Amino acid sequence: MRLYLPVLLFLLLLFGGVRSQDLPPVRIGDQPGFTRVVLDLPNGVSYQIEPLGAALRVTLPGLRVTPGIQFVNQPELAGYVLEQHEDKAVLLLLTPQGVTPRSGYKTMTLAALEGDGQRLVIDLSGAYADTSPLAPNPAFRFVKANGRRFSVVVDAGHGGPDPGAMGPVVEKAVNLEVALRVRRLLQEAGVEVTLTRESDTAFSPDKRTDLAQRVALAEGKHLFVSIHANATVPARADGWCGLEVYYYGPTGVRPFYPSPAPLTPTPPIAITSGPLDMLTSSTQPGPLDPGAQPGPEDVNPIPPQSLPTPTPQMNSARRMELSRTLATRVLSYMLGTTAAVNRGVRSSDFFVIRYSSIPAILVEMGYLSHPLEGQNLRDSNYLDRISYGIARGVLEYLENDHPLE
Ligand SMILES: [Zn+2]
Repeated sequence: MRLYLPVLLFLLLLFGGVRSQDLPPVRIGDQPGFTRVVLDLPNGVSYQIEPLGAALRVTLPGLRVTPGIQFVNQPELAGYVLEQHEDKAVLLLLTPQGVTPRSGYKTMTLAALEGDGQRLVIDLSGAYADTSPLAPNPAFRFVKANGRRFSVVVDAGHGGPDPGAMGPVVEKAVNLEVALRVRRLLQEAGVEVTLTRESDTAFSPDKRTDLAQRVALAEGKHLFVSIHANATVPARADGWCGLEVYYYGPTGVRPFYPSPAPLTPTPPIAITSGPLDMLTSSTQPGPLDPGAQPGPEDVNPIPPQSLPTPTPQMNSARRMELSRTLATRVLSYMLGTTAAVNRGVRSSDFFVIRYSSIPAILVEMGYLSHPLEGQNLRDSNYLDRISYGIARGVLEYLENDHPLE
């Protein structure tokens, strides 16, 4: 027996060595706008990566680790957990900005610096959003408000002497680019669109006068959408990215985080002359109210152009509620198209949404100050996705939520 023991130990070591090797220490690098994780994998080791929302799970069959947790405290990586599961190691990367199959991380493999293994490189950033070409747009519905076209004001923020935020693109330029795309999409759906500007201009060099003129265009329209891109101070620039949509409301309210809306195709083009909004009690039935006696107007339909322009008598609580609903629709669809970080529906007192007489929102399309997201906002595919998200959210709101007079 004594003679066999060394042989047995040798066999065990050999067998164990083939079956299981130690994972070398995880290497973490802090880069502008992203965190890089490098795993030095021995030759022949496979891996599996699964985005789980708040974590990215990396499964490494045949590897051995010492279980534990390590805090990293980067915006993109809070820390990581190592687990040993029988014959495989599991690394859980804790990602506060979130990871999905379409966003939040990128991977590549490189040859080992020494030896014949490989390096698995995982870059984590919320700014890795979906910049692939948008599939041919689902046909929009043709939206009508009881025989009258809906009318929307699209405000390209800043312009002229006011550039807005600066980054890889100037904010006023990207705002206008998206406003023009949103206009085209809404017009295709039969919505009348008024732009506050169609080129690099402002109503006045005086900011307040300029904003007041923009807001004045809202009079008689159904809703107002102001388009902006964000920026933050240098200390936060590497970490802050994602989408926000604001409505006018009390400050200090916690943001609301809607789920991304799936991009299922809309039904074929259909002219809707939907029912009156049952939530509003109208004491003065209008000519289109189904409860009213048919008048001459109902018998001989008036061409849409000659109908009076709507003058909503909307109290501020109702307007706030509708604005919040609109903000939620728009953010949901923007998240659905881009898979970007969700920074929530927020209330604020920005001038244009505060003084608008109709439901109004202010869209922040992302942070120009973020090293990667700023680049996204230069990408035409990404701007298509942003624009489609805004337009689709507006249309879904008009179809489903907006009260008809
Ligand atoms: Zn702005």
